[in-house]
Amino acid sequence: MHNSLLTREWAEEMDRQDELARFRQEFYVQEGTIYLNGNSLGLMSKRAEASLFTLMESWKHYGIDGWTQGKRPWFFLAEQLRVRLAPLIGAEEHEVIVTGSTTVNIHQLVATFYQPQGNRTKIVADALNFPSDIYALQSQLRLSGFDPDTHLIRIPSADGRCLDEGEIARHLTEEVALVLLPTVLYGSGQRLDVEGLTNLAHERGIVVGWDACHSIGAMPHQFHKWGVDFAVWCSYKYVNGGPGGVGGLFVHEKHLPATPGLAGWFGSDKQRQFDMTHTFVPAEDAGAFQIGTPHVLSMAPLVGSLEMFGEAGIERIRAKSLRLTQYLMDLVDTELAGMGFQIGNPRADEQRGGHVSLIHEEAVRICKALKGEGVVPDYRAPDVIRLAPVALYTSFVEVWEAIKRLKRIMTDKIYEQYSNERGVVA
Ligand SMILES: *Cc1c(COP(=O)(O)O)cnc(C)c1O
Repeated sequence: MHNSLLTREWAEEMDRQDELARFRQEFYVQEGTIYLNGNSLGLMSKRAEASLFTLMESWKHYGIDGWTQGKRPWFFLAEQLRVRLAPLIGAEEHEVIVTGSTTVNIHQLVATFYQPQGNRTKIVADALNFPSDIYALQSQLRLSGFDPDTHLIRIPSADGRCLDEGEIARHLTEEVALVLLPTVLYGSGQRLDVEGLTNLAHERGIVVGWDACHSIGAMPHQFHKWGVDFAVWCSYKYVNGGPGGVGGLFVHEKHLPATPGLAGWFGSDKQRQFDMTHTFVPAEDAGAFQIGTPHVLSMAPLVGSLEMFGEAGIERIRAKSLRLTQYLMDLVDTELAGMGFQIGNPRADEQRGGHVSLIHEEAVRICKALKGEGVVPDYRAPDVIRLAPVALYTSFVEVWEAIKRLKRIMTDKIYEQYSNERGVVA
């Protein structure tokens, strides 16, 4: 690599050429702080704040009539928002709904699409998946009368960081009814071949669901075209929907209309919902998978946030994200060589997500020192430092500056001043 890449001037030049640079000023970026934790909780934007206030205003002014009046009538909000969400995941609008949370949506869609028959009774997930996904699968198996110890198959990982696609393929046997995989692994940031694995599972008669928590808002998807059966995601990571922001789900139109595994009145055909009968008439689109009253105030920031995604374009967001993470890895390779760091994510563009996974045996203390030096990283036990430069608000100069501070933390052994215990939220 040419030496000039390592200079602040080069980073400044990249920022000047950045066609998404104008979005940074729309976010509350704290002075002096370099926020690299957008993969856990995206920053607040002014537009998200404004749309939250808009919905609070309609509560203030309309009371109960806010359901049908005001700027954004609550009764139709989840359905309206899918217009902006569909392009992020490559879906037809009627295949998407904003509802629930990742975990709840897994429960809903596994309750709907896990249909054990004969010898085909197992569910496949991976040994590296987020615990909540696994807990949900375990309880769904129990509810169907199966023992999760024998019926939840977890694809092992040879290095504890990444999955081998050949190994995934070997686990998709004729005993498997359903497979749930992450589009991007939350730890290492490995991105899986969603299209290829979906096709493979379908050839073997297996229903495929994807957890897109770590890819939505960071890269494009083509869930409809790829024939994905269902998918779930949250909105508080790269989509910047705020803490506890309402998640979403996708169900391919080939499965619609569908009867949801877990029914509730907000899954009703909207024209019939207020008939108040005891016969459930589900919506014909993915709206059928809603359960109870939508969390309007937790959905509100999405109105403003998704507008920005529409303007920026998810292709451009991915292109910048790849440049940012590549630059970060280049700086790690050159500036931090010999300091015990290792890159835990695959390096190829098509195999990595939106964050860089830095491995170091002193990860706990290094993360604390980074925070002390004004860089917000994300720690994952036991030895992973996740760094997510986010296309909409992180600059190249910030990446350069973060690595400069990290280098100083290592050369001056600043991390040794911190204790080796992880915090409660980490
Ligand atoms: C963030 C995340 C979750 C969180 O689920 P919630 O129901 O929103 O708390 C679950 N699974 C994965 C893979 C995640 O990345």
